[in-house]
Amino acid sequence: MLKARQCVREMREYHSPLSSPDIELRLDMNESTTGCSPRVLAKLNSMDASTLAQYPRREAGEKLVADFLGVASQQLLLTNGADEAIDLLCRAYLEPENEIVIVVPTFAMYEVFAQMENAKIVRVPTGPDFSFPVQRVVDALTDKSRIVVICNPNNPTGVDVPRSAIMQVIQAAPQAAILLDEAYFDFYGQTMLDQVGKLPNLFVARTFSKAYGLAGLRLGVIAGDQEQMSVLRRMASPFNINAFAMECLAEALADRQFVADYVAQVVTSREWLRNELEQLNFKCWPSHGNFILCRFGEEKKAILDALRARGIALRDRPDCEGCVRITIGKQEEMERLMAELKQALSQPPSLKHVTR
Ligand code: PMP
Repeated sequence: MLKARQCVREMREYHSPLSSPDIELRLDMNESTTGCSPRVLAKLNSMDASTLAQYPRREAGEKLVADFLGVASQQLLLTNGADEAIDLLCRAYLEPENEIVIVVPTFAMYEVFAQMENAKIVRVPTGPDFSFPVQRVVDALTDKSRIVVICNPNNPTGVDVPRSAIMQVIQAAPQAAILLDEAYFDFYGQTMLDQVGKLPNLFVARTFSKAYGLAGLRLGVIAGDQEQMSVLRRMASPFNINAFAMECLAEALADRQFVADYVAQVVTSREWLRNELEQLNFKCWPSHGNFILCRFGEEKKAILDALRARGIALRDRPDCEGCVRITIGKQEEMERLMAELKQALSQPPSLKHVTR
């Protein structure tokens, strides 16, 4: 009988949350609820049949993004979302039995792709208040460590990692690729891209899925040392970026005001929401992303169900006890969330007698 590789057979299926037609407000995927720049939409509308008839070419887009980010084209690869960048790194560096070090809780796909390579996943728990446990990460390194992931700011906590801690890990692990996942960079503003090429084991990943509102287009970036990048380039499909994404790239990058306005709006409504939730005695962690982690405690399931029944989806995070992750939307969306939450909390019997 035909059998897939053992490590694949043993994998659990990764389910992103089901999108149901009853959900009007999706706050469970860290997508933009604002959408993308109108310039991107105009470009999409102007495409003709030849765009679809021809294989997409990556070089021009790569030059644009490289210039935008201030790195050389040879130091950068466009990817089918940051997900593909993670996959490529795992395939390039993880032999079976090698180790990948991740700090948990974090983004799920690091484990998924590492498992496909039969690698050993070394999970280092975060410190107090989900802080980055730099010493524990350094202590977890062995001569089999081949990838260390640093998600900055981290998903789902929103907590950031100090530059000094990142440097410490990079220097302590010359035998490993350091994947610095900056998917939420635009909301945070700090980067290590300036170190690309100077530190041969550093890779920085970015995405257009969040601040640019283009999750559906599937466009990500990985930047790193030129020699290492040439390895990744060999592995990637030459047509990994679809023609729509390639055509829209220039407009997406050019409309800086759109991204700046969206980020400003997210920061304002994020801090408003955090304040509102804390007034209800729900603990939240300061976030540098377009999302916030909030502890509903014992009421979590009842609240998630009640909100879902009211058309709002939040993300359950069983890996953070009692917590949910809430994507930040427009101010009016956050106000709707709070109004529905307050209503749900006032409805007996399920959400009464609360201890938080
Ligand atoms: N890294 C992190 C930390 C993420 O949260 C996500 C998406 N949620 C990704 C990578 C993948 O993004 P993309 O849509 O570019 O594949």
